[in-house]
Amino acid sequence: MSSNKYDNDELIFLSEDTHSSTANVSGRWNVLVVDDDEEIHAVTRLALSDLVVNDKVLHFIHAYSGDEALKIIAEMGSSIAIILLDVVMEADDAGLTVAKKMREEMKILEPRIILRTGQPGYAPEEQVIKDYDINDYKTKTELTRSKLVTTIIASLRSYQQILSINQSRKGLQQIITSAANLMEEHSVRNFCEGVVTQISSLIGLETGGVVCAKAGSVLDKDDDGVYVLGAAGEFAPYINKKLESLHNERIVKYVTSCLQLKKHIFENEFSVLYLSSSGYEAAVFLQVGRGISVVDQQLLEVFLSSISIGYENVNLFHQLRTAAFKDWLTKLPNRSEFINLLDECGATKSSSEKALVALIDINHFADINDGLGQEAGNNTLLAVTKRLEETFSDKVEIGRIGSDVFGLIGEEADVNPQILNQMFAAPFKAGEHTLPLSACFGFCRLQGVPQTGINILKQTNIALNIAKKNLKANFEYYAPEMEQETTWRLDMIRQLTRDFDAKKLQLWYQPQVDLVTEKIVGMEALLRWPTSDGGFVSPAVFVPLAEYSGQIIDIGIWVLEESCRQLSALSKLGYTSLRMAVNISMPQFRDPNFIDTVKNIITEHAVAPDRIELEITESVVMDEPQIVIEALSELKQFGVKVAVDDFGTGFSSMSYLQKLPLDRLKVDRSFINEITPGKAAFIAETIVTLGNRLGLSTIAEGVEKREQASYMLKLGCDEAQGFLFAKPMPFEQLLEFLASQES
Ligand code: C2E
Ligand code: MG
Ligand code: MG
Repeated sequence: MSSNKYDNDELIFLSEDTHSSTANVSGRWNVLVVDDDEEIHAVTRLALSDLVVNDKVLHFIHAYSGDEALKIIAEMGSSIAIILLDVVMEADDAGLTVAKKMREEMKILEPRIILRTGQPGYAPEEQVIKDYDINDYKTKTELTRSKLVTTIIASLRSYQQILSINQSRKGLQQIITSAANLMEEHSVRNFCEGVVTQISSLIGLETGGVVCAKAGSVLDKDDDGVYVLGAAGEFAPYINKKLESLHNERIVKYVTSCLQLKKHIFENEFSVLYLSSSGYEAAVFLQVGRGISVVDQQLLEVFLSSISIGYENVNLFHQLRTAAFKDWLTKLPNRSEFINLLDECGATKSSSEKALVALIDINHFADINDGLGQEAGNNTLLAVTKRLEETFSDKVEIGRIGSDVFGLIGEEADVNPQILNQMFAAPFKAGEHTLPLSACFGFCRLQGVPQTGINILKQTNIALNIAKKNLKANFEYYAPEMEQETTWRLDMIRQLTRDFDAKKLQLWYQPQVDLVTEKIVGMEALLRWPTSDGGFVSPAVFVPLAEYSGQIIDIGIWVLEESCRQLSALSKLGYTSLRMAVNISMPQFRDPNFIDTVKNIITEHAVAPDRIELEITESVVMDEPQIVIEALSELKQFGVKVAVDDFGTGFSSMSYLQKLPLDRLKVDRSFINEITPGKAAFIAETIVTLGNRLGLSTIAEGVEKREQASYMLKLGCDEAQGFLFAKPMPFEQLLEFLASQES
């Protein structure tokens, strides 16, 4: 359509006041002029041609009928700011039909409508104006230039408001959905990438963005540097690296000052947004290429405050994860994470044939903790960590498995006893202390057989436990036989519990005789554990297991009850002076009820306490002398007798021996065994002499031969126990044995 024919009419408006200026134009307002009268088009254009509103000029689109107008409206939609709409065109209400269809059917709500009619008094009803959201109604004659200009300006203003409200509404909707998406993120990295993406779509721009956060808040780094947590595009490779590594002066500078100032920075080419929640801080650097509009800035603020909770959540989640897999003190992988690492190398058959796992257990670490304090203990562990890291750099994975146990995964060339011992050769600087340390090492070779991490750790631990007991070397390599032993032990312990509960354990009795008269003076109660094939598991085998598992406490109570029961049975048969020796293990002394239990059992069975003799081995006394001395002293007062079993095999110190309320020394079988014809048995002799000096009676154990009995009698030993006189036997047999002795 041509408007040339009206160009000279411009002059008619020149006298009129103008609101316009053509400087600083940045965009245009679309104005649709709908009129079947061509002159109106030209006049309108001329009247408004140099008008600039909010830095934008007007751009005219022309339609000459209602139908044509609707087509243009359908095409351009909300980008049309104003429609100057003639009412009467092809039909009397063609303009009103346009308004109705546009608002009601096409749902185009933003463009402002100014109705114009040639005839005064043709005004549409008020209801129509409301329903179709018509801004203004003017008769054409009313439209002088200045009136038209004011109407246009007012309409543009309201168009802009409507537009930005709608935009904010859309933006808010988007904030709600994008924030909801972000809330589901549990990894810091995904969250930060999401932030950049959501912001780009929020402000409708391709943005290159970087999210940076202060270490310490999210990262378990010790410095307070700024790290890149999330990035899109060209910056992506810098994730988890320090901010400075981006080598982009502008980003470094503005991110730093954003975090310092704790506020957003909006510049023409870029913006830096500040994000914070409960001490977790981050800056989002956005490469935008243009200034962000005020509306978008407001949107971003709403967005950032609504995702800050999400940011806090991922941080907490991250910390939980860190806590779950990192040792809090050394920041090394903890046991769980170490098992994960082992899972990885255990699962891959390809793991090199030289790969192996080691456990390092620091000797006497508890002494450092107890003696120098927890802090010294922690410092020691940190010093060991540092030494390990220096020794192995990146070649070996290091973890902290337990309080003073470290784990290593590496190659045999790096992880071996020589290198580990060398590592512990120099003392460790732990705060103000410089401590020499020693350690035990367990090794396990990964032989390319697929295995679970937990199993590898278990095997290495078996080797470590054996290393701790080794006397010659402080290390051990795992071998499958070791495991069979542990499995066997566990099976035995389980079986023992079952059989003890089923009352399958028995108590046998071995007579003890007076060496001079060879008359029976008493007997020792000895446990028997029958096996299904009619044999017995030796107490030398299962008693240590029962001690280890703690079962010995219940079993010991039963032994004492049974002994007392049989003693009173013997009394009823007239054997009123026989005494019963009962073996007591260390764990029983540790039982806080031990003393009361012993007293109660003896009292309940109405047995004279002095007919019960408690046998303790030398090693028990040495283990925890104080507990044993106290308990025995109290029981001694109660009336029971006390004997030291296997005397001569332990390392009794004389001072303890003198503190113990003893009645008898049992000369160990090994010294009796040494007695052969024509040879002196010095230790047996020394023990008997010692006993006499201390005023204690002595009994020889394991007397098998006549000459042994004679030799001991000559030395002045009082009593004897051994196969020469009688083997241990069940109670019924004991009764027969006693009866036969009688006659
Ligand atoms: P022990 O207390 O030193 O018991 C003496 C052991 O020497 C018994 O072994 C006995 O059968 C054995 N013996 C006795 N005379 C001879 C002999 O002439 N020659 C030889 N070769 N051996 C002889 P047993 O019954 O196998 O008991 C082994 C150990 O198990 C006991 O050594 C004791 O330490 C422990 N034990 C047995 N019963 C109990 C119990 O009820 N409680 C506790 N805590 N330990 C027990
Ligand atoms: Mg004994
Ligand atoms: Mg003994």
